[in-house]
Amino acid sequence: MNIKQIYKDANALLEGHFLLSSGNHSGFYLQSAKVLEDPKTAKLLAEAVAKQIMENGLQVDTVCAPALGGLIAGFALATALDKRSIFAERVDGTMTIRRGFEIKPGEKVIICEDIITTGGSAMEAATAVEAMGGEVVGFAALANRGFCKRQNSDTTSTPNCKLPQDKPFFALEDFTFEMYDPADCPLCKAGKGKAVKPGSRGN
Ligand code: ZN
Repeated sequence: MNIKQIYKDANALLEGHFLLSSGNHSGFYLQSAKVLEDPKTAKLLAEAVAKQIMENGLQVDTVCAPALGGLIAGFALATALDKRSIFAERVDGTMTIRRGFEIKPGEKVIICEDIITTGGSAMEAATAVEAMGGEVVGFAALANRGFCKRQNSDTTSTPNCKLPQDKPFFALEDFTFEMYDPADCPLCKAGKGKAVKPGSRGN
């Protein structure tokens, strides 16, 4: 399965000259939600992540997704694993589990995102799960931005990665893009126009 091609075909992997929220420029941008627009694609990708988790032998009772980004991926993964699906959401800036969701003491929870960049939101959801007595057994995402090392990849984690090194992280593909200081951006130098914010053209 060519994950990058699936993202390209869904217009989830954009090529151009982008201004990232960090202020850096990049020739690529991932619009993760777009790949989940087609439920059949969401199902296909989630089943591939579920296969990795099952082959690893990891015991999971529940999938917990940080809202909003992880909701669809989390639900699709829970469906593929035939496990419970819950989510955490930010309340006054703090990731919280509400809406009547319960977690039993020692319940084995995997945190699922659509994409892991440094894993910040995933870690906040993990903290919320642990505060309710759950055991976070691992992390999952459809795509990985390449800051954290996923299972079955020979990349290494960078210091930016917030995920714990002693728990498995499952994802389908590394989307590691070069990012450039605007003053030293080869796309600017090559006259590729002004860097645009990916949301600025209605996407
Ligand atoms: Zn540039």
